[in-house]
Amino acid sequence: MSVAVSANDIARASRWPSVIIVGAGFGGIAAAIELRRAGIDDIRILERAADLGGTWYFNSYPGCACDVPSHLYSFSFAQRRDWSRLCSPQAEIHGYLHDVARAHSVEALVQPNSDVTACEWDEPGCTWTVSTAQGETYEADALVLATGQLHQPSYPRIEGAEEFAGHSFHSARWDHDYDLAGKRVAVVGTGASAIQFIPEIAPLLERLWVFQRTGNWMLPRENRRYPPLVKAAIERVPGLQAFRRRFMFEYCESITLAIRHPRTFGRLAHARSRAFMRSQLKDPELRRKAWPDYTFGCKRVLFSSQYLPTLQRANVELVTDSIARLEESAIVTSAGARLEVDCIVWATGFRSTEFMFPMQITTSTGLDLRGAWVGGAHAHFGITVPGFPNMFVMYGPNTNTSGGSIIAYHEAQASYLRQALEQVRDRGAGAIDVRREVEAAGDRAVQARFAGTAWTRCDSWYRDERGRVIANWPGYMREYFEQTRTLRTSDYRFLGRPHAPSGADSDVAREADGGVAREADVGVAREADGGVAREADGGVARGGARASPQGALADA
Ligand SMILES: Cc1cc2nc3c(=O)[nH]c(=O)nc-3n(C[C@H](O)[C@H](O)[C@H](O)COP(=O)(O)OP(=O)(O)OC[C@H]3O[C@@H](n4cnc5c(N)ncnc54)[C@H](O)[C@@H]3O)c2cc1C
Repeated sequence: MSVAVSANDIARASRWPSVIIVGAGFGGIAAAIELRRAGIDDIRILERAADLGGTWYFNSYPGCACDVPSHLYSFSFAQRRDWSRLCSPQAEIHGYLHDVARAHSVEALVQPNSDVTACEWDEPGCTWTVSTAQGETYEADALVLATGQLHQPSYPRIEGAEEFAGHSFHSARWDHDYDLAGKRVAVVGTGASAIQFIPEIAPLLERLWVFQRTGNWMLPRENRRYPPLVKAAIERVPGLQAFRRRFMFEYCESITLAIRHPRTFGRLAHARSRAFMRSQLKDPELRRKAWPDYTFGCKRVLFSSQYLPTLQRANVELVTDSIARLEESAIVTSAGARLEVDCIVWATGFRSTEFMFPMQITTSTGLDLRGAWVGGAHAHFGITVPGFPNMFVMYGPNTNTSGGSIIAYHEAQASYLRQALEQVRDRGAGAIDVRREVEAAGDRAVQARFAGTAWTRCDSWYRDERGRVIANWPGYMREYFEQTRTLRTSDYRFLGRPHAPSGADSDVAREADGGVAREADVGVAREADGGVAREADGGVARGGARASPQGALADA
């Protein structure tokens, strides 16, 4: 059967692949830079917000900064030596991302105010159709979902919430127009964001109640501005910046070591944290209240030398009773206390297990990503999902880290997806789809590797409601890099390209007569009508099953 080839098809094949990236945080920008470097230029970055930046656009609360030092929390290929502090403030990080995006000519690819609502894979056409809430529709050969894990603020459900007539906002949507000076404020939550802004706002307030569900294991960090001499040394001494990055990398890996081995290395880290916290919390009653009741490293270990002393200010009270209900101008605690407040700041984190949802991600083969993840999100190296060809997730399931830089993971993921698309292009195929049994084996290996670690010893945002750890990578940064460095083509099946015109390039030309790639070339059975054989319904990939590299994970 011959397939008509239109001018449109020829144009499309010659610039293959076109790529839509959803999300313009560090992940989306990393992917765009990597693809452009490989000569893939047909890229559109759809971003819901008015600007790029993701986390660093939305979080602008007082004191907002990274907690992984900037020389590691930055792109390896765009090292800066003039950071103002060890952990840079939000505005500096946001400015850095803009600078890098501009320098690599991807800033202009960002299309702001584009809220993606649905992505649909058309298997016969090997095309993703992406729709936005603004009524636009786009088509592309490949889809990169770079929506991150921490972009949807989470609010607790509290009785009487609608009755509260005071002011309130989430820490990730800070209301800079609201003057906190002299106000009675309740901060709900004591996680990574809260411990950064509480020391900043406490001196301004008449009264501050800090509602804590669980305490934090803390380690010291002053994070003052670098003295001029230190700054000059970092800027001028050759190799110093690289040394600092390497040192910080190893330091972060040592945190993972402590989390992975709570009975041995974990005890040492725990002792360090305990000594620091005891030195900061002089009042035994406050110490008792602020003390964490779970294994060191189960939740994120927090760095601050300012937070615990702030709890000891005369105008601050740590409240460990839960909130029973809200009234028009007050919070009523489970112990019956009625606290009159002007403002509530929700520092209650993010709907991390939601990933890219409520976006609808479906295929013409009848799959729905929500359905595929009904037992908990999972993806091959957090990047590819069986049955969703040419779709790549950045900072996807099991790629968060408790002791490292997400940006380093982004770089690994960007390189991996670039290799995937190059494979498709070089084979003259239309799409790449991870083999179901490979992804399943990798997922089992990842989950098995959490056994015995601190991550499984308490509830945290790393786990879903079934207790499955779906946010975090179970190992070291270096393991993730090693395992994703080279894409194993045998982990994948390749789908034929539907309308490959002759003359577009040598590989494409081979397929022009049939309209689909030959099975021998691309490793997939094909159907005469231009469609391709698929495995989605049966759920079992053809071809020999082989363990993913994750199966070979070794403990340190
Ligand atoms: C306060 C704070 C501090 C942090 N500090 C560190 C740190 O020190 N070290 C570290 O490693 N990590 C840190 N993190 C984690 C941080 O989220 C990651 O490091 C990183 O910024 C994630 O980048 P991302 O691009 O994957 O996701 P995000 O930065 O969350 O970007 C995702 C983007 O996708 C967009 N988007 C989502 N859905 C849609 C849609 N439907 N349509 C269009 N656009 C959409 C969002 O608007 C957003 O811009 C921190 C997080 C927070 C909240």
